[in-house]
Amino acid sequence: MHLPFCVERCGYCSFNTAPYTPGGLDRFLTALLRECDLAAGAPWAGGVTLDSLFLGGGTPSLLDAEQMAIVLARIGARFVSFPDCSHWWQLQRVGEVAAELEALWS
Ligand code: SF4
Repeated sequence: MHLPFCVERCGYCSFNTAPYTPGGLDRFLTALLRECDLAAGAPWAGGVTLDSLFLGGGTPSLLDAEQMAIVLARIGARFVSFPDCSHWWQLQRVGEVAAELEALWS
């Protein structure tokens, strides 16, 4: 899942990113959740079981805990996951978000 926003553009990075603005992130998340619903309604979606989920960017740790919970809840509501489905988050500010992620998954 692509979350493209970054506070700064790093010169060595080849990812497709966009400058972070709170309003831009909010609009993107609204569209992302809508796209999640659309994808889940596709004829092939019922045959998909997630065994890993990667959230990268961009900088997914720009999402606050509530936004992270909303994204994870929508994916969980729309798609079947294996019990041991791994989650991969491309993070900055790891120390700051580690407690939030731990709270979400406990
Ligand atoms: S995705 Fe990571 S490495 Fe690339 S510009 Fe954003 S913060 Fe820098």
